[in-house]
Amino acid sequence: MTNSRRNFLQKLTASFIALPLLSTKSYANIEKDITGIFYDGPVLRVAIMGLGSYGTRVADAIQACTKVKLVGAISGTPSKLTAWQSKYTIPEKNCYNYENFDAIKDNPDIDAVYIITPNALHKEQTIRVAKAGKHVICEKPMALNAKEGEAMIAACKKANVKLLVGYRMHFEPKTLEVIRMRNAGEMGKVLFFQGLCGFRIGDPTQWRLNKDLAGGGSMMDIGIYAVNGSRYMVGEEPVWVTAQETKTDPVKFKEGVDETIQFQLGFPSGAVASCLSTYMMNGLDRFYLNAEKGFAEMQPSTGYGPIKGKTNKGELTQEHKTHQTVQMDEMAAIILEGKQPIVPVDGEEALKDLKIIDGIYAAVKSGRKVSLKL
Ligand code: NAD
Repeated sequence: MTNSRRNFLQKLTASFIALPLLSTKSYANIEKDITGIFYDGPVLRVAIMGLGSYGTRVADAIQACTKVKLVGAISGTPSKLTAWQSKYTIPEKNCYNYENFDAIKDNPDIDAVYIITPNALHKEQTIRVAKAGKHVICEKPMALNAKEGEAMIAACKKANVKLLVGYRMHFEPKTLEVIRMRNAGEMGKVLFFQGLCGFRIGDPTQWRLNKDLAGGGSMMDIGIYAVNGSRYMVGEEPVWVTAQETKTDPVKFKEGVDETIQFQLGFPSGAVASCLSTYMMNGLDRFYLNAEKGFAEMQPSTGYGPIKGKTNKGELTQEHKTHQTVQMDEMAAIILEGKQPIVPVDGEEALKDLKIIDGIYAAVKSGRKVSLKL
């Protein structure tokens, strides 16, 4: 569309332009026109699977999206579906449970399903959504291990649907500025990264402390931010890992549920990373990157924000935007327009983290350095 036509349309009243757009399925987020941002491109119509705490956060964030509309919900709890229908104006015909959601394949009003359930369910649910012919957005960790991740990637490829993973930090403006500086050579050669990620976990009965549902402990849930952050902050893929586990409360953190793990990564350039993942220390959320001519320091570094930080050039001042709103709009552009993100968010990207996590657990078990082939 030409600029003059866009300007002309922007000057029309929202009610006038809303009417014809309403009849164009999958197009145009009318409320955005009313709030002043005109958008006439395609909209990704998403159903959320798993209406828990993060699912609700994402649903709320989508309300401010330009390119995404929440149109469906999948839950095992009928009362949650009813509540979401009225809170988010979701039609009943777009609501499913865990038994019948394969029928989503016959629903032309849903383009993608965002899986926000406990980690151990991601693999099977992703494969079912792919078989239903819908794009998949899956929460981190994508799966419990690399083998599962590979099966998910293969299923999505076979079904010719996209598989994206909820790496919201890959779209965060201060994080992207550090990456830009590093790529532009404004810090010189990267030498060292430190990632500290953790919190003190509460309720011992929650799924995050159940190996069958979580696939591990702090590493699967919060340590993955240090794993993933090591890669996007250093800008290379690690070639080896060493790791050590400490457990102070074996009652709360049962066999296979890690409480605290320290791990080290080595990169081809010679850069190293030293990271901590824990469910036993409060408010650990810090990244530090050291380079020959500069540095980046972020704290908080991966929480919901605002992210705060500074580099050798001064304070990071990029505007805070709700991470999940930005992530969803960017993912819509990736799925609908083939946009290439600066840091990938696809299944292959998530598989690399799973390979590193497999390596971390193997290194804890053997006490040896483990080679990585990403
Ligand atoms: P949650 O416990 O609040 O919600 C999980 C939902 O899954 C609940 O609604 C629950 O009813 C449902 N569920 C379906 N089958 C279940 C089963 N068999 N057992 C237990 N619950 C079942 O958890 P959450 O915090 O929303 O986390 C969900 C996923 O989102 C996890 O994979 C987590 O790692 C991820 N997450 C990501 C971020 C992020 O910032 N990207 C933040 C929080 C959580």
